[in-house]
Amino acid sequence: MDYQSGQHGGAVEPADTAAPPQRLSRSPEEAALAAQRRFRQALIEAGLLIPTGVDGLYGRSADFEAIADGLNAAIGALGADQQAEVMRFPPAMARQDFEASEYLKSFPQLAGTVHSFCGSDRDHHRLLARLDAGEEWADQQRPTRVVLTPAACYPIYPVMAARGPLPPQGRVVDVLSYCFRHEPSVDPARMQLFRMREYVRLGTAEQVAAFRAQWIERGSALAQQLALPWQLDLANDPFFGRGGKIVADGQREQKLKFELLIPIHDDAPPTACMSFNYHKDHFAEVWPLRTADGARAHTGCVGFGIDRLILALLRHHGFALARWPSPVRELLGLRHV
Ligand code: 5GP
Ligand code: ZN
Repeated sequence: MDYQSGQHGGAVEPADTAAPPQRLSRSPEEAALAAQRRFRQALIEAGLLIPTGVDGLYGRSADFEAIADGLNAAIGALGADQQAEVMRFPPAMARQDFEASEYLKSFPQLAGTVHSFCGSDRDHHRLLARLDAGEEWADQQRPTRVVLTPAACYPIYPVMAARGPLPPQGRVVDVLSYCFRHEPSVDPARMQLFRMREYVRLGTAEQVAAFRAQWIERGSALAQQLALPWQLDLANDPFFGRGGKIVADGQREQKLKFELLIPIHDDAPPTACMSFNYHKDHFAEVWPLRTADGARAHTGCVGFGIDRLILALLRHHGFALARWPSPVRELLGLRHV
């Protein structure tokens, strides 16, 4: 695989990039970590990702963003018949809605909350003194009414519920947002802030089932058109703790989540680049989301991991966009890049 390293791009702190000492036999985990580090370093050296010194937090280059724009346009074209309502939110949501969503019950380890300084002059002096002394200062801040968005579809459910019952045909919403998940990793495909494009279906159980089946087809067709190797698999979300294992098993048994996986690293399992989710009526338990005849609405969503799809494309087609297969360049509008 020619990663084609470039001139620009800074270095990640040495502790982060130091490869484990070479031994004759490496565990699969060590091999995966080494592959992830290698790919990240190549992306940084090529200037595609810009390191910040924090695992999972990167700037993106013009080429990287051109691919993101192309993917978003291609996904928009795939969904052109959905009569989707486009909604764009900043990468944050109301803390009150976040609390109601029960996200903290399932994924407390991933949540990111926004805190700010809300004190007096005296408190400010104390804050600065702590900073000067190199002491802990974050406890001088207070939680705001804002939390970071964990999945692009989260902000829409309370908005849709506030509108009253759904029309008989239900609704489809098109969302795109940077999402935050606190899972620092050397794997460039596991970011703390990444973009998720989603179509979200709200309606009856049957409407949501038909939507999900249709999007599994469409997502697979997109991977094919992008000339990427892929496989579909049953999946579960990373529910926290001992109780979480039972919830995750239940999610699998009921086939609530499928993922489209693409190999990104040589020595690691393939990476989930799209997900196809059925939430049953979970969000209607939290908010008064109702169908036209007053029943609890069901919801589902298809999520496209924009940054992961970009990494998969770079992995399989190389770092020189001009040398990508013409149909892929054509599809992504990269003819002139
Ligand atoms: P899910 O809600 O199913 O966990 O995530 C939806 C999609 O977002 C995933 O299929 C994946 O493509 C993308 N995604 C999830 N976690 C990460 C991550 O840590 N980094 C990046 N770049 N994408 C992610
Ligand atoms: Zn979603």
